[in-house]
Amino acid sequence: MEEGAFRYVFGPVLSGRLGRSLGLDLLGARICSMNCAYCESGPLERLTLARAPYVPAEVLLNELRAWEAGRKKRGEPLPDAVTLGGMGEPTLNSELAQIIRGVRGILPGVPVAVLTNASLVTDAQVRAELALADMVLPSLDSLVPQEFARVNRGHPALDCAAIAQGVLAFRRQSAAKVYLEVLLVAGVNDSEANLERLAAYCAELAPHRVDVTTLSRPGTEAWAKPVDAATLARWRHRLGSGAQLQPKAASALAGRAEKRQEQCGDMSLDEVRARIQASLARRPQTAAQLSKALLAEPALVLRALAELLGQSLVEEIRQDDAGPGGNAADVYYQARG
Ligand code: SF4
Repeated sequence: MEEGAFRYVFGPVLSGRLGRSLGLDLLGARICSMNCAYCESGPLERLTLARAPYVPAEVLLNELRAWEAGRKKRGEPLPDAVTLGGMGEPTLNSELAQIIRGVRGILPGVPVAVLTNASLVTDAQVRAELALADMVLPSLDSLVPQEFARVNRGHPALDCAAIAQGVLAFRRQSAAKVYLEVLLVAGVNDSEANLERLAAYCAELAPHRVDVTTLSRPGTEAWAKPVDAATLARWRHRLGSGAQLQPKAASALAGRAEKRQEQCGDMSLDEVRARIQASLARRPQTAAQLSKALLAEPALVLRALAELLGQSLVEEIRQDDAGPGGNAADVYYQARG
């Protein structure tokens, strides 16, 4: 299988929490149980709570086998983690358990993480499947129902209190690490009422880590804006966020990536272009992020990006302000269409 033929395996991408993380897309389309105002994955195709083999386990695992064969051939180091996510909610894939087991067989020893909006953890079956992972990263942006509705715009049957209880049940039943994420949108879920409820909730949940973040790139809705740095710092302090550890962790990981980069700079321009295209289809990134995550020479990444821009396959997005998660000088790239 050619590198460019991958549909469901992408990256690795560089993540502050997970290092160089190889992404698996379990949906293959914009199918989700929520339609968050800050979502970076583009317009939603289907809002649903129905589980189905949207990407069948065998199809996805065959791609991963081919990716692994290519990695060995290139002499590239293993990723730090495999992350199940993609363009929607991965627990909607009814073959989740089969996929996690299969990943362990193909990449033994590489931790498996699941990025989830936690909407389905109210279901004991989903909790049992998630317990097969090493790390589960649930997001919970508000415990105030009106805010939850406005920021996450979930399926009408979803209830933030029930989701919070589901995450608690999972934390009690499972040995997987739980990294809770709270994303703040200015004027929407940064209220004192939400802060009080989430602080009490975190004290009860005792997650392994809490990450309070805000938008660093344009989301689905223009009205969804980042909170300021002072608000972010106050929330992080109050929720006992591990986010203040991130710059250190991220730079250590970036350093590791740089070392590895010295070791393997032998990808062709075609390979780099195909991998950049697949990665940007899931997440906007800067040239520097792409270079570190894909272990590709910066000059090669810039050449590949120039070609992709020339063919109108990717586009630039410039930050219109230097919010706490971003830098006005950063130029992000995203896939077009
Ligand atoms: S839960 Fe995730 S994938 Fe789904 S809409 Fe929200 S941000 Fe996007």
